[in-house]
Amino acid sequence: MRILVSGGAGFIGSHLCDRLLADGHSVVALDNLSTGRDENLSHLSDCRSFRLIQHDICDPFEGTGPLDCVYNLASPASPRDYLAAPIETLLAGSLGTRNMLEVARRHAATFVQASTSETYGDPLVHPQPESYWGNVNPIGPRSVYDESKRFSEALAMAYHRKYGMETRVARLFNTYGPRMRRADGRVLPAFLDQVLRGEPLSVFGDGSQTRSFCYVSDIVDGLIRLARSAEPKPVNLGSPTELTVLELAEIVQDLAGAAPHVRFHPLPEDDPKRRRPDIGRARRLLGWEPRISMEEGLRRTLQWVRDSSAAEA
Ligand code: NAD
Repeated sequence: MRILVSGGAGFIGSHLCDRLLADGHSVVALDNLSTGRDENLSHLSDCRSFRLIQHDICDPFEGTGPLDCVYNLASPASPRDYLAAPIETLLAGSLGTRNMLEVARRHAATFVQASTSETYGDPLVHPQPESYWGNVNPIGPRSVYDESKRFSEALAMAYHRKYGMETRVARLFNTYGPRMRRADGRVLPAFLDQVLRGEPLSVFGDGSQTRSFCYVSDIVDGLIRLARSAEPKPVNLGSPTELTVLELAEIVQDLAGAAPHVRFHPLPEDDPKRRRPDIGRARRLLGWEPRISMEEGLRRTLQWVRDSSAAEA
């Protein structure tokens, strides 16, 4: 198959490109390199089945030949990135998603939208099933991301209903692994960076807020299974194992062989207190669940952070 991956130079997108190429497909990555990096794809520079095109999805894309599937991952994704680019974020999820849907429609390709657990906001239902409509502040600082993704989901469903297009919506929960940017403001990259510098880990609030982290190869596998399914309605992809931020700090320090040492900071506005996916639909519809344990995933990621720090030094 010939597949387009928008946001292909980003963290998850670059792993998706690798996996699709390994499965024998030909891949075109579109990226404006705003939060992604071409180093994430530099190992593919000699690959004849791969091409990176520098392009902003907010501009129409005329295409590069036939396509069977379009994965739309292009969007600032970490709080630091989307708070620094609020309007670009809203436009990526609206205009950008429309442009990618139009590309898919033109080629009768399947369209897969990378959405997010942020569509649940600060959830009042726990764990979150796809049927939960969420508790989102529509005008708070994080709304630029949450509402852009909610709009993307609504637009994908509208294209499905109006044109009978094959559309998919993946609600991704926290994902981690090699190629995460170390200073992107998210808790896990920050912890890994701090532990390797021998600094205390920064915990926001009292650290009792929970997160669930899924290793990137599992998320990529879920996206591919979803694309192959016939399910137009949202499907959660993420780890059902919930950890408090303090527990995470402990595991990271333990794996790195560092002494326990955290520093507390005030909680940012609208920081969700609990997040855990109900993955019953992914299990049932896709036969999917995460395979890589937190310990194994963290070990691999820590190794990658060490190797990349050594390469930079
Ligand atoms: P990332 O920032 O590493 O990747 C996003 C990519 O999109 C970057 O390469 C960036 O340059 C590109 N991009 C941004 N705006 C663009 C535009 N207008 N045109 C073209 N390219 C553009 O982030 P990621 O963590 O890999 O996230 C990928 C997708 O998954 C995002 O849509 C994000 O919302 C979603 N997601 C990620 C997580 C997570 O934990 N990482 C969780 C939920 C959802």
